[in-house]
Amino acid sequence: MSNASVELLAIAAHRDDVELTCGGTLAKAAQAGHRVGIIDLTQGEMGTRGDASTRAAEAERAAKTLGVAIRLNAEMRDAHLANDDPSRGILVELIRRTRPRVVILPFPVGRHPDHRIASELGRDACYLAGLAKYEPGRGGEAHRPYKLLYALAYREDPVKPTFVVDISDVFETKMQAIRCYASQFDGAKAAGEIHPTGQDLYELIRVQSAHYGSLIRRRYGEPFYTPETQEVDDVLKLGVQSI
Ligand SMILES: [Zn+2]
Repeated sequence: MSNASVELLAIAAHRDDVELTCGGTLAKAAQAGHRVGIIDLTQGEMGTRGDASTRAAEAERAAKTLGVAIRLNAEMRDAHLANDDPSRGILVELIRRTRPRVVILPFPVGRHPDHRIASELGRDACYLAGLAKYEPGRGGEAHRPYKLLYALAYREDPVKPTFVVDISDVFETKMQAIRCYASQFDGAKAAGEIHPTGQDLYELIRVQSAHYGSLIRRRYGEPFYTPETQEVDDVLKLGVQSI
């Protein structure tokens, strides 16, 4: 296993995207002893607040807070993401370097075009990374992740989460990681897929996380979607009370 290898990898368009949508899940996996990685596709240079170098330092602090082992940046153009051949090649290289078993991607629908394109680009690169004859040797041996999870947080599409991760024990860690992005978020009323309600952004994240937690009868949660059906071994061990 190389130093860059991880078990769980989150891929998203902008620095701070993964903290908002799946930071608790990443922190929980890291605390459970798994190696966790993040690939940010862009440097966030189009952000209204803060410049790219400030955001780089913030992203590094946030990764440390979450216990993430490796955070890479694909240096694609913010607000110009494209699911084209050069971009797929870059991402295939990073996936082969990190060799994840499970990958978290943005939901395929998003407010920001980069979120939608990052989802499709991530899925396609995960597939192509496993083709031995696709740019052989680029990034190392061919490797295809086993499982793709779509982060569903804050989306309002008529899609039920396939499952929700209980992040109650790591919720404060998630919030601490999000607060690392002070240049983006201090005083902000909206971010990423979160629409403004007039409330403070941090309060909005807490309220939304509490809602997802309530779906599994827990304090805080993060929702995910998979198109494929999940397998259950023993129906007597199923959680979440029905009535
Ligand atoms: Zn974003």
